Amino acid sequence: MSAIATSPLDALVSHMQESALLATTNNLLDWDQETTMPSGGLEWRARQQALVARMVHERNSSRERGDLIAAVESDGAAMADPETVALVREARRDYGKATKLPASLVEEMARVSSMAKHEWAEARAASDFKRFAPWLAKLVALLRKQADCYGYAAGGEPWDALADLYEPGCTAAYVAGVFDPLRPRLQKLVAELAASKRGPSNAFNDFFVPIERQEALSRFVAERIGFDFNRGRLDRSTHPFCGGTHCNDVRMTTRYNERCVNDALGSTMHESGHAIYEQGLPFARIGTPLGESVSLGIHESQSRMWENQVGRSRAFWAWLAPQLSAVIGADASRFSLDELYGAANIVEPGFIRVEADEATYNLHVMVRFQIERAVIKGDLEVEGIPSVWNRLYKDLLGLDVPDDRRGCLQDIHWSMGAMGYFPTYTLGNLYASQLFEAACAEMPGLVDGFARGEFTQLRAWLNRNIHAHGRRYSPSELVQRVTGKPLSAEPLMRHLEGKLRPLYGL
Ligand code: ZN
Repeated sequence: MSAIATSPLDALVSHMQESALLATTNNLLDWDQETTMPSGGLEWRARQQALVARMVHERNSSRERGDLIAAVESDGAAMADPETVALVREARRDYGKATKLPASLVEEMARVSSMAKHEWAEARAASDFKRFAPWLAKLVALLRKQADCYGYAAGGEPWDALADLYEPGCTAAYVAGVFDPLRPRLQKLVAELAASKRGPSNAFNDFFVPIERQEALSRFVAERIGFDFNRGRLDRSTHPFCGGTHCNDVRMTTRYNERCVNDALGSTMHESGHAIYEQGLPFARIGTPLGESVSLGIHESQSRMWENQVGRSRAFWAWLAPQLSAVIGADASRFSLDELYGAANIVEPGFIRVEADEATYNLHVMVRFQIERAVIKGDLEVEGIPSVWNRLYKDLLGLDVPDDRRGCLQDIHWSMGAMGYFPTYTLGNLYASQLFEAACAEMPGLVDGFARGEFTQLRAWLNRNIHAHGRRYSPSELVQRVTGKPLSAEPLMRHLEGKLRPLYGL
């Protein structure tokens, strides 16, 4: 037996890495379930995943983990290194999250949310919110208990504790401060575009392309913008996602619609953005907080940037247009660059968030934020959700919601007990715009390069400024560091107005 003394830091790192080895087997089980598993495997798979999750939770909330963290915290020499300070800060944060909830509450939440998810699916099929309401009320009561266990800053509100799980440091006041000035400007822009008689042609969005050719296009574009197929896969699933085990094994999926190439292209570029982030995390740090993504909002900024700032730019289409015929068929040559670029940027208010365009998307998110904040605070009873939802859709998007299925029952999130999650989608759009402006300022000619198929510069910049840091900085610190400013609505509005107004002849 060797008797080499292990430093407290090494001991903590290896304890965390073993948890990660175990936890990421569940990611593979997820991927397998979504892509290849026969439906008959469902029950056994659920039991496999529950067992792995319980083993991971036991390790992550163990006395041993707590002692290891405390040992590094009191090791003066180790704590002289700022990276170690960040690693221990995040390890302490995770340990707190893992230990603050009593086991009885965790079990109750798992039991109720699994039933609620089922009831939500039934209620949605029947378009009947009343059927789901009692289950949502139970979830809200449990979420309030959760928020009390986690705690939140003085002057804050329970919603803050829930949002902090997805976006560290995020509070309702912070979100409202960013959303409030954004809302009227988005409404004004959407109304102006709707009133214009000179919108772009939608013809390319109704162009039949066989799925195998769309798949070839997805692979071609994903590889070109920087997804490494030696360290990742692209498969098909009903709901596109990005998973995998670590930076050298990233599994993303997309879906295909024969009648709309932009569906698959947009979702492939979106998931590629998530995947390029995952592939860019430092291998030497994998299994520790410094080898993990910062937050859902920052993750979404990476996917949105490749999907929107790159994939919906004129320069990107100027590069792709001459190659389209070779990849998806000669018929594609009948579309001009203007038609291709225009079809990627059609704006049209609709009921469904996941089908929304770049300009209306954030208004959908604002509706959900306003409602869940009021419900968690106790200002709105669950039974009142449909009427508030429908009124907000009328106010913000000018739409009369026809039924609950296309209204407040459309998203799965609340039925899973996820409140505080929705704003991360819009934070992602805001981060993406602000980060992209900073990249353009630092690298003049960046966008012109897209027209020549040059995407390496942007990927390397993101890698250096975002990916390489793991969770070293909080989301707001990271944005401040990279852009020199706190998060603001201005870059997103400049991006949307600068692109969409000319496209709609305004
Ligand atoms: Zn995403």
